[in-house]
Amino acid sequence: MTKLHRQSLVAYGQPLRETIVDCPTPHGSEVLVRVERCGVCHSDLHVQDGYFALGGDKRLDITKDRVLPFTLGHEIAGVIESAGEAAAGAIIGRRVAIYPWIGCGTCPACRSGEENMCSAHHHLGIAADGGFANYVLIPHSRYLLDYAPLSPAFAGPLMCSGLTAYSALKRLASRAERGPVLLVGLGGVGMMGLALARALFKEPPLVADIDAEKRRAAVAAGAAQAFDPTDPQSRKAVFTATGGVLAVCDFVGSEKSLQFSTGVLARGGKVVVTGLLGGNFSIAAAMIAIKAMTIEGTLTGTLAEAHELIALARSGKISPIRTHDRPLNEAQAALDDLRAGRVVGRTVLFV
Ligand SMILES: [Zn+2]
Ligand SMILES: [Zn+2]
Repeated sequence: MTKLHRQSLVAYGQPLRETIVDCPTPHGSEVLVRVERCGVCHSDLHVQDGYFALGGDKRLDITKDRVLPFTLGHEIAGVIESAGEAAAGAIIGRRVAIYPWIGCGTCPACRSGEENMCSAHHHLGIAADGGFANYVLIPHSRYLLDYAPLSPAFAGPLMCSGLTAYSALKRLASRAERGPVLLVGLGGVGMMGLALARALFKEPPLVADIDAEKRRAAVAAGAAQAFDPTDPQSRKAVFTATGGVLAVCDFVGSEKSLQFSTGVLARGGKVVVTGLLGGNFSIAAAMIAIKAMTIEGTLTGTLAEAHELIALARSGKISPIRTHDRPLNEAQAALDDLRAGRVVGRTVLFV
């Protein structure tokens, strides 16, 4: 019997460890995918910790509804290995990216096509075993997307960091017609956001990050101008360059990033927040009305948006982000490097 080799979460806050079990056999609509690449994402760190920092001593516990050992990883591209008798279109050998934000299928969010917002979800690598493994079991072939001629190292991360950035930028589209978008935070999602903003909007985006190397990488990748938000003059510099920004995407989601993101808004401006770094953010209440400001959160994206995004990428309109391949058994080292901020671009595990 084929064995399933996984880099597993065996205890919260502890390093991943290899676990080996029998490989599942797909039944009915299920599909077994052999993993070729799986991206390493910031949210993997939160799952490993078992909580989100909410600011002060407050934590949002996210340990419930997950059975240990558990397999992280949700940015998966692979090859169909086998399929249940009712798995339509699941041709053996087909190379696919996996939409990981799988819902219950019956709640109001799922019924309106927003499985990413499902309250009883089976999101891969979050609530159901994910892709830090040689195989992953998918409940239905509708979550499999063709990605050729892209590389699997690009296609996998498109399903999380790409989709998150795409869904966020769509929410800024009308304002992006009136001026440049500002992207705050240039980690994996932010760099994907840069590539997408260049494909979707007529003006190249502005960027901000505390790390000079990341700012340089962004300018080299086509950003119009880069700002250091820790520089006390940076807010003024953004106003000098733009007169205030109408559209900001905050890929960090911390007190400081949100202060910067809301502080550079023009009247009528909007901040879309995808980041989950944590902390508390406060704002002078009157400024919301005085600036006619919108702050909107977004969480990954829908299956329909995943199809739109992968079509855009397959048409060659998105320049691939920088990726680094590492073997699956270095998953913990990859997480450690990500936590320490030592990664530019995306780390992608291979089996
Ligand atoms: Zn992710
Ligand atoms: Zn649901």
